[in-house]
Amino acid sequence: MKEIISNRARLIDASGIRKVFALGALMKDPVNFSIGQPDFDVPEALKEEAIRAIRAGQNKYSQTAGDETLKQKIAAQVGAEFGWANPAVLVSSGVSGGLLLAFMATINPGDEVIIPDPYFVMYKHLVNLLGGRCVFVDSYPDFGLPVEKIAGAVTDKTKMIVLNSPCNPSGAVYSQQQIKALAQVAAERDILVLTDEIYEKFCYDGPCPSIAGYYEKSLLLRGFSKPYAMTGWRLGYVAAHESLKEVIEQMTKIQQYTFVCAPTPFQMAAIAAMDYDVSDYVDEYRRKRDLLYDGLKGTFELVRPGGAFYAFVKAPGGRRATEFVEKAIKNNVLVIPGNVFSEKDTHFRISYATSDEKIRRGVEILCSLA
Ligand code: PMP
Repeated sequence: MKEIISNRARLIDASGIRKVFALGALMKDPVNFSIGQPDFDVPEALKEEAIRAIRAGQNKYSQTAGDETLKQKIAAQVGAEFGWANPAVLVSSGVSGGLLLAFMATINPGDEVIIPDPYFVMYKHLVNLLGGRCVFVDSYPDFGLPVEKIAGAVTDKTKMIVLNSPCNPSGAVYSQQQIKALAQVAAERDILVLTDEIYEKFCYDGPCPSIAGYYEKSLLLRGFSKPYAMTGWRLGYVAAHESLKEVIEQMTKIQQYTFVCAPTPFQMAAIAAMDYDVSDYVDEYRRKRDLLYDGLKGTFELVRPGGAFYAFVKAPGGRRATEFVEKAIKNNVLVIPGNVFSEKDTHFRISYATSDEKIRRGVEILCSLA
């Protein structure tokens, strides 16, 4: 039979995550530390906005780049935050949609993309799909931004540096000093930076510095999925200084022939979301972070996460993390092996976006296995 599946599809290895899901399906009432989304529901006021928009008939395509009012609101917010006079904005189908469009609009086969390791797994697969080459830069053991190593990894083929702060899976928040130093490295070599800030609101020990404030050649990606718990609504945005207008225009062109637009009624709710205060949720998650960290720190090696809702924990006794993860799953705690997010198999990821009771139970079980 003729080969149906493309070589590009075969490049994607989903086995790591699939294995955890398959094992998880056998568990009853597990402590589920694997979920990458908040455990609260969309705030009622925002649900009402979406319902109102649907009832008012706002169910058709929007403009490709997004509803004008939403775009203006985003432009006003990022403009005020970064001092951009006339930012370019594209509303995307989640940050995932924005990532695909950003890579499609910029990466040629053979281009190198520098990515701190551990990393959000989508970057690797999208860059590979497009024939780009991922250059992973180790950020172990503290998961801070490895500026010197990034500078050392730059070649003539480097097209982009990807940043993700707060980071999935490590929960690391890059310091202002690291961000400024990286901005200088990128500026010296004139390299585009993509900054994925989907977790920016979940920052527990102070503000989350953004490279967009220090380097104009930054594509800023932010989303609605995590702060408002609307992962199923598929909404995000890409914004940039007007000097990158051409990149946003190219992305918009590709959106026209792929996603067409982000879901229209939910864009209406996003207008309201931009003024919605989520600090109570953030306070709640800070407390959960402390509950998890304080419970594990005496037994496991882990860095105190500064943001997002993940902790990246070293497998005990120098064991391979996949081995420890299998043991944890057999004991009813679902965690993700670090090699899903990394070229190494030394750590595992915990998502603490769950109830306090589950966090306590999970911590107790994990500590008993160490
Ligand atoms: N970036 C990071 C770092 C993420 O963790 C996620 C979701 N897990 C995304 C992007 C994509 O989120 P969405 O498409 O729902 O906006």
